[in-house]
Amino acid sequence: MPEPTTDFTSLTLEYLPDDIAVVRVAVPGHSQNVITATFLRELGQILDHFAAVPPRGLILESGRPGSFFAGADIDRLNRLWELPEPDVADLCERGRTLFGRLSASPWPSVAVIGGTCLGGGLELALACDLRVATDDPRTSLGAPEVKLGLLPGWGGTVRLPRLIGPGPALEMLITGDAVSGRRAATLGLVDACVPPAAARATALRLLEQTVANANQATRRQQQAAAVPLDADEKAFLEATTAALILGRTGGHYPAPLAILKTVLQGCEREAAEAAVGEREAFVQLTRSPVARQLVRVFLLGEQNRRDSGLSGDNQNNLSAPDPSAPDRSDSSKRDCRPAVVGAGIMGAGIVARHLRSALTTTLVDINAAALRRSIPDILAEAAWDRNARASDPQRAVELAGLLRSSTDLAAIAQADLVIESVIERTDLKRQVLSEIESMVAETTVLCTNTSTNPIATLAESLSNASRFCGMHFFNPVRRMKLVEVIRGPATSDATVATVVAHAKRLGKYPVVVQDSPGFLVNRVLTPYLHEAVELLREGIAPDRIDRLSRRFGMPLGPLELYDMVGLDTAFYAGLVMATAFGERIDASPVIPALVKAGWLGRKSGSGFYAYSGSGHDAPITGVNRQLADRLEPYRLPERSLRDEDIIDRLFLPMLLEALLVLDEGIVRESNDVDLAVIHALGFPAFRGGLLAWGDSLGAAQVIERLKRFADLGPRMIPPPSLLDHAATGRPFTTHFLS
Ligand code: NAD
Repeated sequence: MPEPTTDFTSLTLEYLPDDIAVVRVAVPGHSQNVITATFLRELGQILDHFAAVPPRGLILESGRPGSFFAGADIDRLNRLWELPEPDVADLCERGRTLFGRLSASPWPSVAVIGGTCLGGGLELALACDLRVATDDPRTSLGAPEVKLGLLPGWGGTVRLPRLIGPGPALEMLITGDAVSGRRAATLGLVDACVPPAAARATALRLLEQTVANANQATRRQQQAAAVPLDADEKAFLEATTAALILGRTGGHYPAPLAILKTVLQGCEREAAEAAVGEREAFVQLTRSPVARQLVRVFLLGEQNRRDSGLSGDNQNNLSAPDPSAPDRSDSSKRDCRPAVVGAGIMGAGIVARHLRSALTTTLVDINAAALRRSIPDILAEAAWDRNARASDPQRAVELAGLLRSSTDLAAIAQADLVIESVIERTDLKRQVLSEIESMVAETTVLCTNTSTNPIATLAESLSNASRFCGMHFFNPVRRMKLVEVIRGPATSDATVATVVAHAKRLGKYPVVVQDSPGFLVNRVLTPYLHEAVELLREGIAPDRIDRLSRRFGMPLGPLELYDMVGLDTAFYAGLVMATAFGERIDASPVIPALVKAGWLGRKSGSGFYAYSGSGHDAPITGVNRQLADRLEPYRLPERSLRDEDIIDRLFLPMLLEALLVLDEGIVRESNDVDLAVIHALGFPAFRGGLLAWGDSLGAAQVIERLKRFADLGPRMIPPPSLLDHAATGRPFTTHFLS
């Protein structure tokens, strides 16, 4: 066959015997294939070539192992807000027309999907007549646009329901969750799921069958027509899906509802008309501030992924090895032998996360019963199958092979990274850390999961503190993606880089913070929790406080959070904070009084709320009826507060604390604050994080609102940096360079 005259940079063309063209994509400058302007142009050029010299069929495959297409180039997405509506509509139209040319070609096409196939990549695969997925564990197909506050704008909402049915399509589009190659085959999203080595041959066979039977015409007719969906079916799907969406999002996220409407309306129309609806809905979503914030949050994660954990000069120092400390900054290239000491709630969650990352892990607990109890939970969590929403028993058996458990600390002798997660008692932690140090090699990195102990204090128990730092996970470990990597005074750069790389290997976002009371997250959380109790003392009902916090977007209200964490634990953490920052956050007398009464929260069956039974899963029965009596000695003058005042009281002190954290250099950069509060506290992503929420108000407005609470004292007084932001108009967040 004649070759095209153009030189391509992101794809190559070859021919198999019998005029089957193979287009292999490898977009340069990216570790994974992403849809760039160059790729789209070259796809158009190759389709021009095929129009002049038609092949008998086309195989579209990736030249990058593990990546079919990771989706659109995020930098392109991040510019959508700046474009006027007609330009956004034009972008949709051009992409859809291009993919439409592929699906309308006189020859059949098949996409071979090995690795990630997401977003625009899935839409491209859907534009082919056939799809073959590999059973490689890296293969995943999904439409994550909803997570960015958008919907697929290149025909995805039109093609997917026609291929797999409106119900399963809605589920994929609304959750944004990807499915494995096998699951895709069950759904009918792909025509076959085979081992990678068989993928090309399978694609060829399917293509030949299609050519021989000319049956792509039937598929294409089905793709072009409306979707048969009777009125009852539609009403049921609409009602149940809308209820599910509102339950999950509290109405804060417009994209899932827009997807529901677009898909259902699109099903009633022919594909060409449905595509117009898709385009209009896409344009509208790009006008919503939510999409802009969600893309920013995604970029925070991407920035974190590229961050070594060290600042400029220190990064360079890493290349000159520090003889006193190990350089294992790229732990992914080495065999890693982690160990965890302490099999409690946190230790168990941390080990499960290690097993999920396929790391052979040693777990030690001094208490044989606690160790035994933890193992089934660890394996069940590690083998959790998101698609099936259940633990996979066979996977659990496989993962059991990666777990070594012992009551003898000598079991960690070979470990190269140890995470101490025993109970929060300074003397015990110091003793355990010292024992750990005596047990392992000199190069082993030592971490503590302490919530409240200064790293400096714990480091005193070690003879070489340069290899020691905090590695603070959040509860529940499976859900909270943040890890604070806490630098002690002696911690070496190499240790920080190793722990940062290790956290990433666990799929976490590591944020490096200085050793300071509450580190970052508990420091900004404390004013919020403290304020909730002050509001209670002023006569505001507990369920009103929590409801307003949830309405703001928090997953739990502050008093619900107290009960979940445990009032005894919160009391101790509050004491540490009050000692350090008493002027703003004094120790409330309420919490010790409740603890004294035996009200420890959910685990004891009573706290701010009452529970039927006790323990972590005990169901809530309502506000604790005796709470008012208990609060009586601690009452403050009553205030009549509007809902918005209560929200300001809860969140403005949190923002002020974050500004102080930045002033004190606790974090290396302001973006870390937003990433941290979202992934450790569940701060609403649609608000972009705490500082982004502050920016949505503006510094001057924040100062104005604080004036209403000035009589409450220092905790409501604007710090100098806030005044400076107001004077200069400088935002709290830093922007990304695209
Ligand atoms: P936990 O009480 O559930 O478990 C602690 C475990 O440590 C127990 O199984 C105990 O048997 C074991 N242990 C005690 N002494 C030991 C020793 N000498 N050697 C080996 N094991 C020993 O505690 P947790 O909630 O899992 O907390 C563990 C650490 O994580 C604490 O430092 C805590 O501050 C921190 N943390 C807890 C949370 C949380 O929400 N629970 C969140 C972040 C960090």
